[in-house]
Amino acid sequence: MTDARTGAADAAPTPDAAQPAAAQPAAAQPTGAQPDAAQSAAAPADDARERVAAVCRALAADGLVKGTAGNVSVRVDDGIAITATGVVFAEAVADDVVIVGEDRHLVLGHLAPSSELDLHFAAYADDAVGAVVHTHAPAAIAVSLVSDRLPCVHYQQLTLGGEIEVVPFSVFGSPELAETTGDALSSANAVILAHHGAVTTGRDLADAVAHTALLEWACDIYLRARAAGDPAELSPEQQADVVAAAVATGYGQKHEA
Ligand SMILES: [Zn+2]
Repeated sequence: MTDARTGAADAAPTPDAAQPAAAQPAAAQPTGAQPDAAQSAAAPADDARERVAAVCRALAADGLVKGTAGNVSVRVDDGIAITATGVVFAEAVADDVVIVGEDRHLVLGHLAPSSELDLHFAAYADDAVGAVVHTHAPAAIAVSLVSDRLPCVHYQQLTLGGEIEVVPFSVFGSPELAETTGDALSSANAVILAHHGAVTTGRDLADAVAHTALLEWACDIYLRARAAGDPAELSPEQQADVVAAAVATGYGQKHEA
């Protein structure tokens, strides 16, 4: 399977319309969450826990998660920093994030990690993945109810891998869900989970959150088009042309005139 992320991944920007607060680098500082001096000087592990908590609060503020639904992680030296189970995203703090080693042992923190721990580790099988975001974003769920894929309806979807797979329903936290999700993420930065939500990956937290926002934006476009007719999709040739143009021009990157 062609990895459509190649080339376009760094070149295609996230559209303004798909950049709520959570998609901006400033996502680590959402409204009402000012880091104190102790946090700025904190050790890397504590810093990662706070950054994950800040992303959770931003995702809740943007309506991409409700209550305790969803989980976020980032790769750290000792494993991954991941939200604990039962965390209310809107109120997440660093203590709600735990560090878990690849052997699944708790390295730091006292709460039980997210029930989707295996799903996150499956995504980190790709060495390029530095962060994982799982939400119950409404447009992605709606797409999963009417289609087994999100066709490539906009060229910026190439940042995610082009067409996005909808994996069949499996119970949350199950080995089956981890396996199907991990397989889908081996060739894309995003996957939709039927009757459940979405998972995106990125180089870092900001990247993974931006991909969540972009996926939700593309799902919304697709749903609007389906309500009006039969959505057209970009052909493989058109997608290849976009990738070639993005690579050739450095599209989406600041550069000297
Ligand atoms: Zn979930």
